[in-house]
Amino acid sequence: MKEVIFPRSRNIEQYVFGKGSFSNLAELLDQRRAIEDGPVIYFMDHYFSGNHLSTRIPVRDGDPVIFVDTTHEPTVQMVNDQMDTVESMIDSKPSAVVGIGGGSTLDTAKAISNLLTNQGKAEDYQGWDLVRVPGIYKIGIPTISGTGAETSRTCVLTNYEKHLKLGMNSPFTIFDQLILDPELTATVPKDQYFYTGMDTFIHCIESLNGRYRHALADSYSKMALQLCSDVFQADDMLSESNREQLMVASYFGGCALANSYVGLVHPLSAALSLVLGYHHGLANCLVMNIMEEYYPEETAIFHDFLDKQSIELPTGIAEGLSADDFEQLYLSCIIHEKPLANALGDNFQTILDRDRATQLFQRM
Ligand code: NAD
Ligand code: ZN
Repeated sequence: MKEVIFPRSRNIEQYVFGKGSFSNLAELLDQRRAIEDGPVIYFMDHYFSGNHLSTRIPVRDGDPVIFVDTTHEPTVQMVNDQMDTVESMIDSKPSAVVGIGGGSTLDTAKAISNLLTNQGKAEDYQGWDLVRVPGIYKIGIPTISGTGAETSRTCVLTNYEKHLKLGMNSPFTIFDQLILDPELTATVPKDQYFYTGMDTFIHCIESLNGRYRHALADSYSKMALQLCSDVFQADDMLSESNREQLMVASYFGGCALANSYVGLVHPLSAALSLVLGYHHGLANCLVMNIMEEYYPEETAIFHDFLDKQSIELPTGIAEGLSADDFEQLYLSCIIHEKPLANALGDNFQTILDRDRATQLFQRM
């Protein structure tokens, strides 16, 4: 008899939502300290260093504040280095870890929270259900919307040694508390807002077009897609109400992701990140731009979004690449078996062979 796999996940237990809700952070941390005292470790995107928001965090004596350099997306090495820094700055068990930023910063905070209680190195926990015990209580505060990192059960880390981008997939990676304040996304540059926002759109269309489907993930995806459509067909995608809508779309997209798999776009995009250093949001868009054959209707919608928002993607990114570069791109893509099987079926290696993958990269 065919084994039935029941989707299993946890939702975010607590959230505070709404414009200005960042001001709840001090009270939430007071409540936390009343249960378990200890320093609070803040991870903040480096964009906020010296910025107004960094003066609004309720830091006490002995609380480390670490500005995360997001010039490059997090790697296992970067997280291990952050862990050394954290350990040199505290002498008792922290009461909370707070991540304030985009996917890169939220994922860094999640990874450190897990390492603080599980010990070892970041790479030891890349995979499924390898985290043994709950991490330090963690609060996520997104400042850009789209990755769903605020709700997902993973924290994506690049591992150059193993040639992969893989997270610590575990229920322990889920934030305990979120603060969803759309005011915080007001300063995101237009292109970055689009690229990261498209991550939600792409997660959801990949999930809805995959083989592993169920009503729960489908519903989250459909809600998120409707919100994306409203935002990216609007005259001003960055208006206050659209920033609020996109924050909700990202939240639902992360819930969908926790209950399903991505498809063909993410493996190709991961290869662009790993081999050519493109950031996740832009890499996704470069792939989505040429997906007519695989996701025809969704690619047309994506092109409409690009036109409506006057976003111009880089082109000719594969010009001048060597045969070895294409081989590395192919290998870094084909390693993502679960999403590729979700999108293309069990014989995905025959469908997406070296030649086909190379043709796709050459069209980007
Ligand atoms: P990011 O965190 O890498 O940030 C992108 C840029 O936006 C940075 O330059 C940052 O400084 C800037 N920025 C962020 N907030 C800002 C603000 N309010 N004002 C001005 N600038 C701001 O971007 P991202 O796209 O959110 O995250 C990408 C990362 O998330 C990748 O590492 C990707 O692998 C990961 N990811 C994780 C999950 C997950 O479930 N954990 C899902 C998808 C992607
Ligand atoms: Zn993604």
